[in-house]
Amino acid sequence: MYRAPVEDIAFTLKHVAGMKSALEAGTFGDLGEDLVDAVLGEAGRFATEEVAPLYKIGDEQGAVLKDAAVTTPPGWKELYRRWIDGGWNALSGPEEYGGQALPTMLGVAALEMWNSAAMAFGIGPTLTMGAVEALDKHASRELKAKYLAKLVSGEWMGTMNLTEPQAGSDLNALRARAEPAGDGTYRIFGQKIFITYGEHDFTDNIIHLVLARLPDAPAGTRGISLFLVPKFLVEEDGSLGARNDVFCSGLEHKLGIHASPTCTMIYGDGFQGAKPGAIGWLIGEENKGLACMFTMMNNARLAVGMQGVAVAEAATQKAIAYANERRQGNAADYAGMGMAPIVRHPDVQRNLLTMRALTQIARAISYSCAHAIDRARVAEGEAAANWRDRANLLTPLAKAFSTDVGVEVASLGVQVHGGMGFIEETGAAALYRDARIAPIYEGTNGIQAIDLVSRKLPLGGGEHVHFYIGELKAVTDAVRTSNIEGFGRTAENLDRALADLDEATRFLQGLLANGQTDAALAGATPYLRLISFAAGGAYLAQGGLADRGRIALCRFFAENLLGETHALKECVIKGAESLAAAGKSLIST
Ligand SMILES: Cc1cc2nc3c(=O)[nH]c(=O)nc-3n(C[C@H](O)[C@H](O)[C@H](O)COP(=O)(O)OP(=O)(O)OC[C@H]3O[C@@H](n4cnc5c(N)ncnc54)[C@H](O)[C@@H]3O)c2cc1C
Repeated sequence: MYRAPVEDIAFTLKHVAGMKSALEAGTFGDLGEDLVDAVLGEAGRFATEEVAPLYKIGDEQGAVLKDAAVTTPPGWKELYRRWIDGGWNALSGPEEYGGQALPTMLGVAALEMWNSAAMAFGIGPTLTMGAVEALDKHASRELKAKYLAKLVSGEWMGTMNLTEPQAGSDLNALRARAEPAGDGTYRIFGQKIFITYGEHDFTDNIIHLVLARLPDAPAGTRGISLFLVPKFLVEEDGSLGARNDVFCSGLEHKLGIHASPTCTMIYGDGFQGAKPGAIGWLIGEENKGLACMFTMMNNARLAVGMQGVAVAEAATQKAIAYANERRQGNAADYAGMGMAPIVRHPDVQRNLLTMRALTQIARAISYSCAHAIDRARVAEGEAAANWRDRANLLTPLAKAFSTDVGVEVASLGVQVHGGMGFIEETGAAALYRDARIAPIYEGTNGIQAIDLVSRKLPLGGGEHVHFYIGELKAVTDAVRTSNIEGFGRTAENLDRALADLDEATRFLQGLLANGQTDAALAGATPYLRLISFAAGGAYLAQGGLADRGRIALCRFFAENLLGETHALKECVIKGAESLAAAGKSLIST
């Protein structure tokens, strides 16, 4: 079973992602390493001892819908209660509303552990935290006063309602309606699909954040507003009032994360004889809802990236344990001792080391993104703008690369288990099933790659990404001049990978400047992997410089996997024409 890798997480936070220098610079006020270690240790204990044991029953029994009410699997409601009683929901919430305002870095590290233990559990609070951030930034004082403290403590949970049957990646097509009621409130009508924890038994009230259109709204995404719609109306004294006109009409049957209810939500259909129209309150300004929702989505994208890291970690642990137990064949260094544990075979070692390296890289990228978010929050002027650019650049990497890694690593985990990996008993298959959703929700990974190329490469007049590449190159130089043994060809190979990245970046920026957007977007997905691989190689090297015990993995990656950047660069630079030609002739009907 999963054991939270607290030391590894603490090391990556401090020595790779920048937490140590941030602590020393006073970025986090009087927060010290002792408290960081204590929080990580306790979060790890809770994930290992309390959440992980309920994974299997969650996967096997799933959430159940009856008469518009959803029941979560046995023990899950009590688990949630213990979790909020431990103050975990409030970890990074605003202090004014009872939160602990701890850094995002610490929040995502804890999130990784909850999700490794059970991704179907980790996804719920992620949405609540996103709702807290959106309300804190955009809601009126009255709404904040009424809802924030209970969302921060976790007494109530939040949801995010964007998707409709005809509006998934493309929110221009959104149809849900909001009509002003004349008393400052609105009546919401429409159907939302795939709403995570849209209905459940964890909390007495559920606070839905819903995108909808006002009657006179402009077409497209400029005409979308954001509304707060509680399941139960809240009285002035904070007690629960009447049931609002919103209900869950269906639960999806899914490939994975079975314990997380994925709901069809109906707004304004006269539930239980109510006068039709779900009562909602505007968040932020009319027609500016998408910008408010983006506050929530950026947070959620990093959080979903953590799910990729989390599943990859859990799958790696499981596979390493199995490979040390399962015996097949002979191995040279096991001669005379009978059948060798499969971990002695080079091909199995390759799989396991690939799993470990990819997991570490995804973790380093995601924590670095969190670090940039934390720095941007306290920095001023130009420094703040630079950190914001960094967070914006790394968000699509954290989301898309990490969740691709989640699937890739979970798949390798099944492979290491052989036939038993395909059998549910070992749990390897369940992780693979869970991992598969993360590249899809919160903006598909294809959309993330488009965002990276079209919106993030131009940041800072196109200079920010080169500034970042320069920082990665400095790590190569540090490896070269360190004279530390064991890095092998790390510096040369990293140099080459960074040159691939530099060339591909300039090529794409040139296409964008010439208005050849389609050609640039054709290379978006390979480019996202290319930049993630090159950055990942540098992060592993940084870890190796700080701790010699980490050099072996860094060298393995540099000498076995990093060469992929060359093929990715070729694809970015030379692949668009053949893609367009074959796309037209072979698959379009
Ligand atoms: C388990 C689960 C939980 C979810 N939870 C929530 C939730 O809580 N709240 C919520 O609002 N939604 C939620 N969703 C919805 C999810 O965010 C969407 O499924 C996702 O955004 C993709 O939309 P779609 O399914 O309509 O796919 P589509 O948009 O139809 O995309 C299909 C494919 O086409 C590609 N594609 C689409 N447009 C473009 C383009 N312009 N350029 C290039 N490629 C493109 C996509 O990358 C994808 O591969 C959830 C979904 C699932 C399955």
